[in-house]
Amino acid sequence: MTDVFEEIDQIAGIAARKDELLSLHTSFAVGGPCDLMVWVSDIDALKRLLALAKTHSLPVMALGNGSNVLVRDGGVGGVVIRLVDDFATIEAEGEHIHAGAGASLAETVSKATSSGIGGLEFLAGIPGTVGGAVVTNAGSRDVWVSSRLVELGVLTDDLTARRLSPGDLGFGYRHSGIDKTWIVTDVLLAGYRCEVEEARHKVEEYLNMRRTTQPTGENTAGCVFKNPPDDAAGRVIDHAGLKGSRKGGAEISMIHGNWVVNTGGATAGEILDLINETRDKVQDEYGIDLELEINVIGRD
Ligand SMILES: Cc1cc2nc3c(=O)[nH]c(=O)nc-3n(C[C@H](O)[C@H](O)[C@H](O)COP(=O)(O)OP(=O)(O)OC[C@H]3O[C@@H](n4cnc5c(N)ncnc54)[C@H](O)[C@@H]3O)c2cc1C
Repeated sequence: MTDVFEEIDQIAGIAARKDELLSLHTSFAVGGPCDLMVWVSDIDALKRLLALAKTHSLPVMALGNGSNVLVRDGGVGGVVIRLVDDFATIEAEGEHIHAGAGASLAETVSKATSSGIGGLEFLAGIPGTVGGAVVTNAGSRDVWVSSRLVELGVLTDDLTARRLSPGDLGFGYRHSGIDKTWIVTDVLLAGYRCEVEEARHKVEEYLNMRRTTQPTGENTAGCVFKNPPDDAAGRVIDHAGLKGSRKGGAEISMIHGNWVVNTGGATAGEILDLINETRDKVQDEYGIDLELEINVIGRD
């Protein structure tokens, strides 16, 4: 195994670190180590990495900003890929934004706004990457990134670069049908032409709404559960009297019932226990089966 990792480390355009703690790369600030974390700068390096991983049957997964994942305390086997440099570029033209999958969503919204492109303001304050946003179909309750998506580039596990349309990808509420073995490489989004000030004003409104209704600035992963049909998970959890419930360092936020906060020193196990307990209580009291919005990954 060590030899493969050394081979990966030697690929041009790759920087690698063994046994990197995922708690350093997730917004919950929990999660054990991955065998190898690699920062990949360009498409050639990504192809060589995937080819090598395939030859050695090494599992690979892409990680964006780790703001929608709960990584278990035992970490993740195999290679965790971070897309940087060529994959983090953002270009604006007309009403379009072309961004690498590793680009920050905040910077993408900012680029759109300053270029007089409206329609992406609802993504302001979501702390992910463009790739992570498309895979999770991030957005507000009513507007999702898929509604602004024109085209997406992926590298499949057989190393084919494909261009796909939203219609190919089975998007739904916080869901995409993007194959788990594919790496999203870049995304083309469309907004509409507008005054810079108008877009800035809308972004500020979204950010203010977040500041007043969400525990921003804490170690969280945003909403834990999807909203059940015609209801809000936060409302149900609040109604069940579960705000402020704790397991070790994990707490259901007093500000928003659908957010779990790592108040300091929580383990992934504690967060998961609190989530499961909440789900069970809501099921028992209201007969509502809350579905997870966050991705739980890794080994115990
Ligand atoms: C404070 C806060 C506020 C939030 N608010 C919102 C909100 O309003 N709306 C919302 O929808 N979400 C929200 N979230 C959740 C999260 O920010 C979004 O889901 C975000 O889009 C995830 O992006 P990421 O880059 O962090 O993805 P990650 O968490 O790193 O990854 C998410 C999934 O995508 C996969 N993935 C990531 N990049 C790629 C790639 N290039 N190719 C293939 N697979 C990939 C990962 O393997 C994983 O399965 C919030 C989170 C926080 C902490």
